[in-house]
Amino acid sequence: MSNTERIINRDGEYVAHSYGRFPVAIVEGKNATCYDADGKKYIDFTSGIGVNSLGFCDDGWIKAVTEQLSKLQHISNLYYTEPCGKLAEILCNRTGMKRVFFANGGAEANEGAIKAARKYSFQKYGPGRSTIVTLKNSFHGRTVTTLSATGQDVFHNYFFPFTEGFEFCEAGDFTALSRMCENGVCAVMIELIQGEGGVLPLEQDFVKKVAALCRERDILLIVDEVQTGIGRTGSLFCFEQYGILPDLVTAAKGIGGGLPLAAVLFGAKTAEVFNPGDHATTFGGNPVACAGAVEVLRRLDDGFLNEVKKKGEYIADRLKKLPHVAGISGMGMMIGVTLDGPKPQDVVRAGIEEGVLTLTAKSKLRLLPPLTATYGEIDEGIEGVGRALTRFL
Ligand SMILES: *Cc1c(COP(=O)(O)O)cnc(C)c1O
Repeated sequence: MSNTERIINRDGEYVAHSYGRFPVAIVEGKNATCYDADGKKYIDFTSGIGVNSLGFCDDGWIKAVTEQLSKLQHISNLYYTEPCGKLAEILCNRTGMKRVFFANGGAEANEGAIKAARKYSFQKYGPGRSTIVTLKNSFHGRTVTTLSATGQDVFHNYFFPFTEGFEFCEAGDFTALSRMCENGVCAVMIELIQGEGGVLPLEQDFVKKVAALCRERDILLIVDEVQTGIGRTGSLFCFEQYGILPDLVTAAKGIGGGLPLAAVLFGAKTAEVFNPGDHATTFGGNPVACAGAVEVLRRLDDGFLNEVKKKGEYIADRLKKLPHVAGISGMGMMIGVTLDGPKPQDVVRAGIEEGVLTLTAKSKLRLLPPLTATYGEIDEGIEGVGRALTRFL
């Protein structure tokens, strides 16, 4: 039995069958290159679904994390630690947001933003103004409330009753959104690029109009940057490229560089909404995770972010020359590939055999390489994707 088979068999017996997995067990890696339990090499174009912003086992990140780990791994939020405040300060200074709440994952961050929006409205306008408008084809997480917020029917199954108070609008249909926002609405929640929905960027004009409408009616604009945030699109947050300043921003995936960490960023309107007792989580602001995130943000300076844009363009240009590639979507290193025949899931499987890890998003192939991937690794990975696609000619 191979090492991979041994790992897979045990998992199959003891781990809940909630994931559809590929038959690969990864044991180690550096930057965008990793190896499975039987020594096979892969170029990683997934970064753990946008998590490993600095790739596998970045030296600076390891140093930051291990230094903190050998001093203090955790203390309750009843007390203060330095990394958490340091990280919040950096996030505020670099975004114009005013305060930060730390959570552990994207869904949990979105729950926090939803609670903040409802409390803001309840305090100011009383009960009944609690609806949150989200977009069709969105994805906001897997808790009962964030499933409710997710504008896809396939997610609204089995787990009844779902949280009330979410309505769905077609992305880009400002007339419909404006009509939905006439009564009882406390917030509009959007992803600027629908990630799980197929790497679909919203139109600039639509987003600007939504932001203006929200401001005019004192409706809060929540931007879910769980996938688009932390340099992924070539700016620290994607909202900067849309020329808006949201009232609430959520971040997760890439912020911890591989450790579980998420954040709710509060703008001027919402900065004082939460008082002691309103919201909390045991692991929130964990010093080890925050120390790693401080290093991630230190590295993501303007030069680094420009490189993300350049690498994104380079990848898109090379992909366009491959067989079966009918179109490219996304921004920076968040890339969707429209295929003219092969099913994306089949291409991902062929890619694994050819030594490259890729993702799907609905009908597209999706690439989220580590932001630090070298041009050498990018070339090697794209050649693997090319060989995978050539199998379908
Ligand atoms: C992944 C994702 C989430 C959920 O994050 P988890 O950490 O899995 O809870 C929420 N919103 C968006 C846009 C995401 O891409």
